[in-house]
Amino acid sequence: CKRIVIKIGTSSLMLADGSVNYQTFDRLAYVLTVLRNQGKEIVLVSSGAIGVGLNRLNLPHRPKTIPEQQAVASVGQSELMNLYTRFFSHYNQIVGQILMTLDIVQFPESRRNAVNAFEQLLKMGIIPIVNENDAVSVEELDHLTKFGDNDRLSATVAEIISADLLIMLSDVPGFYDKNPMAYPDAVLFHTIHAVTAKEMALAGGNGSKFGTGGMATKLKAAKRILKNKQQMVLTQATDPTVLFDILAGKEIGTYFVR
Ligand code: ADP
Repeated sequence: CKRIVIKIGTSSLMLADGSVNYQTFDRLAYVLTVLRNQGKEIVLVSSGAIGVGLNRLNLPHRPKTIPEQQAVASVGQSELMNLYTRFFSHYNQIVGQILMTLDIVQFPESRRNAVNAFEQLLKMGIIPIVNENDAVSVEELDHLTKFGDNDRLSATVAEIISADLLIMLSDVPGFYDKNPMAYPDAVLFHTIHAVTAKEMALAGGNGSKFGTGGMATKLKAAKRILKNKQQMVLTQATDPTVLFDILAGKEIGTYFVR
């Protein structure tokens, strides 16, 4: 496994009180730098712009109007990259930012340019950090430019750069037969070979306070990944050193493979 896309959700980057989870940023920077130094090509898809923005602007929750949300995303995205740049620099690792919109991958020319950017960054040993360009891409105004959630974005990135593996770090240890947050007796699936209506029906609810997708968008992303003959692991972000175990072949979380 050489080229790996790692996606981390907002719920893992923020603490329950709305403040930044600096420990996760630090651990993630450490682990991804080690993997990079082992010769892996690493791309990080990070949510969190809204969460970090709300915290920076001292707002208790997401504002109502779309322009206000755009402003929060704008502040939050630059703050988010500031955090990553700082934490990665402690490990002497350079990062670059790539902000995506859906139209970029839909037009061959812009798609090619996006791929070129990824390839060049990886060639230079830089870790690209990707997010949706939420300050300008607004779903309600333009369905054509919005991924809508970073689960879909991460599967798209894995697709266009032909990654070997997508690892999603979430607030749950994997995919269960029902929502483990609501049902303590939920049972974890260790391996999923196909995402059908049967699996989709088990992904209930909308997820956490910060997260936008819930399990449904993760399963849809997994479906894409399987269709492309790629692989995906879904697990918990609590301790990012779990990435070492995953790449060492240990059975962790839910493994999606054909
Ligand atoms: P992230 O911020 O990492 O994208 P989300 O909060 O959007 O995470 O999605 C994960 C959430 O999905 C879990 O916290 C859980 O409440 C919910 N969920 C719903 N159904 C399931 C299921 N069958 N298995 C696991 N989690 C589920």
